[in-house]
Amino acid sequence: MTKLNTFEQAVETYEPVLGLETHIELDTRTKMFCGCSTTFGAEPNTQVCPVCLALPGALPVANRAAVEATIKIGLALNCRIAEWTRFARKNYFYPDMPKNFQTTQYEEPLCEEGYVDVTVEGKPYRIEIERVHLEEDTGKTLHVGGATGRIHGATESFVDYNRAGIPLVEIVTKPVPGTGALAPEVARAYVTELRDIVRSLGVSDVRMEQGSMRCDVNLSLGKPGEEWGTRTETKNVNSLRSVERAVRYEVRRQSALLDEGVRIIQETRHFQETDGSTNPGRSKEEATDYRYFPEPDLAVMEPSREWVEQLRASLPEPPRKRRERLQAEWSLADKEMQSVVNADAVELIESTIAAGAGPAGAVKWWLGELSRRANESGEELAALAITPAQVAELQAMVDDGRLNDKLARQVIDGVLAGEGSPADVAAKRGLEVVSDTGALEAAVDEAIAANPAVADKIRGGTHAAAGVLIGAVMKATKGQADAGTVRQIILDRLS
Ligand SMILES: [Zn+2]
Repeated sequence: MTKLNTFEQAVETYEPVLGLETHIELDTRTKMFCGCSTTFGAEPNTQVCPVCLALPGALPVANRAAVEATIKIGLALNCRIAEWTRFARKNYFYPDMPKNFQTTQYEEPLCEEGYVDVTVEGKPYRIEIERVHLEEDTGKTLHVGGATGRIHGATESFVDYNRAGIPLVEIVTKPVPGTGALAPEVARAYVTELRDIVRSLGVSDVRMEQGSMRCDVNLSLGKPGEEWGTRTETKNVNSLRSVERAVRYEVRRQSALLDEGVRIIQETRHFQETDGSTNPGRSKEEATDYRYFPEPDLAVMEPSREWVEQLRASLPEPPRKRRERLQAEWSLADKEMQSVVNADAVELIESTIAAGAGPAGAVKWWLGELSRRANESGEELAALAITPAQVAELQAMVDDGRLNDKLARQVIDGVLAGEGSPADVAAKRGLEVVSDTGALEAAVDEAIAANPAVADKIRGGTHAAAGVLIGAVMKATKGQADAGTVRQIILDRLS
């Protein structure tokens, strides 16, 4: 059983130092060094050629679109773009890597020295970026026969090289000290911001759960004023929540060891999604183990300053600025905007407003009822079977008085169940507000007759008592009356 301190105990004694390495798969049409398609989900080993299979004599050529995307990422992260850069070979054996080396960048990365600003609990943090470089992905191995899909217990292993050679961008931060007890939240905020920045550039779909964005979390602990401790690297953490959990766990684990005078070993660890723990992997290689050397088959790259400036001019509004602008346009308090961001609802709300809804209505549905549904089904908000246009249509029906909130929620049931647009569902399920005043007046009269004492109170000027009669009318109309209209009829009748 691994001994753990509580997180609070740990950060009282030790100062965490974070480091984050993120890999992002670019969504170029072709691979990094050949013309093979990058389309996901093809039959294994159908998107391969002599170059990405490393057959003798095959020569790579760098993909200009991938270089351009990487420069854009570098610029969006406030980096300096190299005037002279080249690829290197990183030598190691791995069955899913047919070349027995990875073509990557070592001493001459494409982009260096940038930063990302995040705010956590009202405090600003600047995460400095050491480098952004371009490399290629490996293939995929598949182990069959074991319980968990891992090699242990497997009877057969297969390899699929379709992914081998897909362009990957690696973004490495400098060590991040000074986050204290907020280290887990700062790590998460950084990865979130990075994801949003890259997404805004349209160069990757940056989906952590699908592996197009993968994060390695480095963490060490030291006592304040002393040297930083030895770091561990938790590999392939694949959700924003897991980034936070991995940091929290390593702080708790390492601090318990340090308390007992045990040294931390530099190693890679694997994150366990089930209980949020990390397990030891291999002990970490040093850079010298990889025998890096300049790639002799690829020309050096000298991105012209004109090209870089053209790309800089083409960058979209940064997500942080955009959020500030939208917050002002939507008149939201900081806390509300934070909820919108946390729920990943910025685009959804923006599209709902573009489809005609007012900001208040759009925010209300996505953060309220729809967030609740997404939580219940364990889905992401964007994956719900309702579109921003449909939410705008629903709100329009509420604004017109055709639906009240209660009916609107039932309409959402129907839309999510695939019964069509809000108008279709309301028609099919008979969910429109009763606007036939004659019917409402009759229901009001019945309610007055059944509650004479309440009616007397209202006649005596206690208008608040109308709630009892409104409730009775709502019940009689199965919730399909507009409460405001009913109230008006009651007051007209009893004044
Ligand atoms: Zn190929």
